[in-house]
Amino acid sequence: MTLSTTPAADALLGNYKRAPITLVDGDGVYLIDADGKRYLDFVSGIAVNALGYGDDGLRAALHDAADGLIHVSNLYATAAGEQLAATLAGASFASKVFFCNSGAEANEAAFKFARRWGRTRADTKHEIIALRGSFHGRLFGTLAATDRPSYRMPFRPLAPGISIAERDIEDLAAALSPETAAAVILEPVQGEGGVRVLDAGFVREVRALTKERDVALIFDEIQCGLGRTGTLFAYEHFDVEPDMLTLAKPIAGGLPMGAVLVTDEVASTIKPGDHGTTFGGGPFVASIANYVVGRLSDPVLLRTITQNGEWLGKQLNDIAHRTGRIRAVRGLGYIWGIDVMGTAAHVVAEALSAGLLTCSAGDYTVRLLPPLVTTREELAAGLQILEEVL
Ligand SMILES: *Cc1c(COP(=O)(O)O)cnc(C)c1O
Repeated sequence: MTLSTTPAADALLGNYKRAPITLVDGDGVYLIDADGKRYLDFVSGIAVNALGYGDDGLRAALHDAADGLIHVSNLYATAAGEQLAATLAGASFASKVFFCNSGAEANEAAFKFARRWGRTRADTKHEIIALRGSFHGRLFGTLAATDRPSYRMPFRPLAPGISIAERDIEDLAAALSPETAAAVILEPVQGEGGVRVLDAGFVREVRALTKERDVALIFDEIQCGLGRTGTLFAYEHFDVEPDMLTLAKPIAGGLPMGAVLVTDEVASTIKPGDHGTTFGGGPFVASIANYVVGRLSDPVLLRTITQNGEWLGKQLNDIAHRTGRIRAVRGLGYIWGIDVMGTAAHVVAEALSAGLLTCSAGDYTVRLLPPLVTTREELAAGLQILEEVL
């Protein structure tokens, strides 16, 4: 028998377009490739690695958790998940929390909870309405709520009863029948859709409209939540509360976890057996999330993100003026999108060569998602590279 000499990468399915580097290590807010080259990381594993790399506290939490139970299934209670649920509920509008393993799973669960709740009002209440520019995941239900034709088209038919409305209160009002609509889902800051901070007045109008029509409102804070905008939850900027909120990306320090936060009213309609998942909220991952959520709730950290975010916005606008290569700058905190001349992919590739990791959000927007522990000096170093590249 001869062993295959195929390079390992050839065995991976070709569903990702990867950058031409292999990462082997991390140090603070830097990643290091197999050739020893260092990259300042303004991607954070797509808004996941809030604490950067090699964080001492995270490492200690991982070691502690490794000494305990990894998994027991949801047939039994464990303390870490109960503690995490209590923390998230205590810090938010919510009274109950469901755990799963990814962002798309969290939104799928929220859709099921919306239908369960909706059907207690009227048997016809089932529709989910998402907004133009939305990204809610790649599974069949969430894909139907994701407004990206290239993601959707090859996989039709998508889940029925899920549609997209314009980011316009009149259009939404026309789409929202009190007899059939169960929920509206929106990202307070649309991430993949180009970093669009929704207008606070619009979000308040959506809240008023959904209340009036007896429709649940779901905030997808999978990307913008847990400190990234300078508040623990992004909705705190808008002065409105949803009926459900979904979390994932940064919640467990890079381990897979999602969560759905719900009001008492929604929770009261969910019965044993309505939903489930084998791994969700297990003791290992929940222990890590307890540590991470504790760190991300720190008011000093949040204030720093707010202040550095304001500074970052000013710097990006200055770079736009100096280079003439940026058409628009959007964002807050540590989530920014810049619309560039030419394609985002080109700028992302050039920045990578120059030692700065960025990612795109659509064809023309370069997205910046630094770890939430990035200092102003490190932000400035990244912006200098970005300006030279532009
Ligand atoms: C990443 C993301 C998702 C999907 O999360 P996965 O863990 O990739 O399934 C959903 N909504 C938003 C806003 C996201 O940024």
